[in-house]
Amino acid sequence: MAVNLLDFDLDGLAAFCDALGEKRFRAVQLFRWVHQKGESDFERMSDLAKSLRAKLSGVAEVRALPLLSEHVSADGTIKWLFDVGAGNAVEAVFIPEAERGTLCVSSQAGCAVGCRFCSTGHQGFSRNLTTGEIVAQLWFAEHRLRRRLALAGGERAIDNVVMMGMGEPLQNYAALLPALRTMLDDHGYGLSRRRVTVSTSGVVPMIDRLREDCPVALAVSLHAPDDALRDALVPLNRKYPLAELLDACVRYLERSPRDFITFEYCMLDGVNDAPAQAQELVRLVRARVPCKFNLIPFNPFPASGLLRSPRERVLAFARVLQDAGIVTTIRKTRGDDIDAACGQLAGEVQDRTRARERLVGRRASIPIVTRPEAPR
Ligand code: SF4
Repeated sequence: MAVNLLDFDLDGLAAFCDALGEKRFRAVQLFRWVHQKGESDFERMSDLAKSLRAKLSGVAEVRALPLLSEHVSADGTIKWLFDVGAGNAVEAVFIPEAERGTLCVSSQAGCAVGCRFCSTGHQGFSRNLTTGEIVAQLWFAEHRLRRRLALAGGERAIDNVVMMGMGEPLQNYAALLPALRTMLDDHGYGLSRRRVTVSTSGVVPMIDRLREDCPVALAVSLHAPDDALRDALVPLNRKYPLAELLDACVRYLERSPRDFITFEYCMLDGVNDAPAQAQELVRLVRARVPCKFNLIPFNPFPASGLLRSPRERVLAFARVLQDAGIVTTIRKTRGDDIDAACGQLAGEVQDRTRARERLVGRRASIPIVTRPEAPR
């Protein structure tokens, strides 16, 4: 099979070109054609030497992901579903905002972490995406949107990428790293390190690796103020408990392009949304990790058995954090009319019965500890 040029960061492409007897500046030209201009036809890469075009044809290609569907929400959010083979599909979501465009990118087909509140986690794990499959989501979205919005040359449609789609990116580190480098490369997408965010459920050793290899903004899925509840919601916590995770966050900040960690916190009715739990959170992080909180309204799906926290409860929770001096935002729900919550569409096209069975068996042993609460 032909080599997929989307699999390479610039150094990788230079090594590939070197093997073809071509100099590094040719790799730079090729990289710019592919990522900056969105070109996949070597014959149209007009300033590329004819000899190189001839060498590339037949041995290399720019392999896009087959598009299964596109859903456009009334609020402008766009969700693309891509076929990654063997009955698997992954999603990328574009979220337009006044000042910027954000793309949420997937790193795995399914996910092995199995967070209790996550639709992707309920589907089980199929496989890691390749670098080319991760980059292909951005390549497709950026150039489709540029054409659709008729942007002038050099104008970007996407200036913010969050690795928050399907999968745990730090469990697919080997593919993630060249993808991040391509996003950041000035000859690629030229994104700022502050505008590329890796979101993790807390793979502590790989947080340390990312700090050394390619520090970008970091978001951590926290979801609970103590180990007992987090063990139940995010099973990875049993391997890397809160104290270890927070220490890794502090170490990460030594190299991070931002001076805070974003903690994601999915608000689950009667599970983790009590004011007392907000106070516990304050005690956990204040004076330890400079951070912001992003409270996420849960997107219910039937298999979860969980409910979205009422709005007033979320506001009360946010007030406790804000009163303690912690910057706290409440994520706007976007794309509700197109099931934009991670994993919801992909789950519908997958036949993952056995994975689901295994997961259901595993989950049965994970009790959710709900807190006694005053009646509301
Ligand atoms: S929240 Fe993230 S890490 Fe947890 S199961 Fe879903 S995709 Fe995986």
